Amino acid sequence: EISSTRENNVAKIKVVVRKRPLNKKEISRKEDDIVTVSENALTVHEPKLKVDLTAYVEKHEFCFDAVLDEHVNNDEVYHATVEPIIPIIFQRTKATCFAYGQTGSGKTFTMQPLPLRAAQDLVRFLHQPIYRNQRFKLWLSYFEIYGGKLFDLLSDRKKLCMREDGRQQVCIVGLQEFEVSDVQVVKEYIERGNSARSTGSTGANEESSRSHAILQLVIKKHPEIKESKRNNDVNESKAGKVVGKISFIDLAGSERGADTTDNDRQTRIEGAEINKSLLALKECIRALDNDQIHIPFRGSKLTEVLRDSFVGNSRTVMISCISPNAGSCEHTLNTLRYADRVK
Ligand code: ADP
Ligand code: MG
Repeated sequence: EISSTRENNVAKIKVVVRKRPLNKKEISRKEDDIVTVSENALTVHEPKLKVDLTAYVEKHEFCFDAVLDEHVNNDEVYHATVEPIIPIIFQRTKATCFAYGQTGSGKTFTMQPLPLRAAQDLVRFLHQPIYRNQRFKLWLSYFEIYGGKLFDLLSDRKKLCMREDGRQQVCIVGLQEFEVSDVQVVKEYIERGNSARSTGSTGANEESSRSHAILQLVIKKHPEIKESKRNNDVNESKAGKVVGKISFIDLAGSERGADTTDNDRQTRIEGAEINKSLLALKECIRALDNDQIHIPFRGSKLTEVLRDSFVGNSRTVMISCISPNAGSCEHTLNTLRYADRVK
């Protein structure tokens, strides 16, 4: 069931919550589903114990732009989040779509199909008569922020660094961009990037939950160049001027920000970095919503990288993913409180 409180689908900031179904493990453990959804509101029924150990339930109610329950599929998520933004990408908009939530809450499940659908629509727009002769092209890049460092997921995890020019433009030096003119190609890049995400020694989901993955689709306007001068992809990308872009960000597991007291030093450092970036993100979105002149980008690598998406004509969609099981109650409440602060 989808509902939205705002008539204007391209509100500057949109906060959407998605609840996933109970999984097999939770069902076999006979865990309760403690989240009920009604239109754009939801209630968390927190199981609690009194001092004399009698059980009771504390209710927590929240309201968002939209709440998507466990029956909503990925197509409907696309309609409720990214689809309304696509046309305005051609009107100099920089858009960002985040998935926030604890590990296992459905961030990757939710984010993976979105760039593919968006690319499909962007390509369709490119072919419309009004844009056809404008020399617009669609470019894709995919990178990761891990422990405060940037890695290109489409060029053997090459380490990248950031530079800022005098006009608030962020430039990630050496980031590979690929022209994508059909959706099958987009799919291949996404898959290639996914397999390059941090996996470490402990298994894929475990490690990728400590990094932010950022996939960007950029529309550029290209100068007329003679066929004979056409160079390789990288130079051609540089020649184009950014018209608009949309970034899809699969954030690190929100619970990882609490790993700051872990016994392992590396885990502690990563936890501190994640904590810093999620806090900075919240502050930037709030500043954006209040039309503040000063946006606190400098708080973290994540927000620095997204700097140009927080100024000018920007749109932000936050998809907060939650698990329905009683065992995740504390994380779910943390996620909802975070989303509530952003809204
Ligand atoms: P995260 O990226 O937040 O760690 P995942 O996206 O990997 O979480 O989801 C954890 C598991 O739950 C995966 O096996 C995924 O397929 C499943 N899952 C997540 N959301 C849904 C959903 N809405 N419907 C069905 N399965 C889901
Ligand atoms: Mg994930």
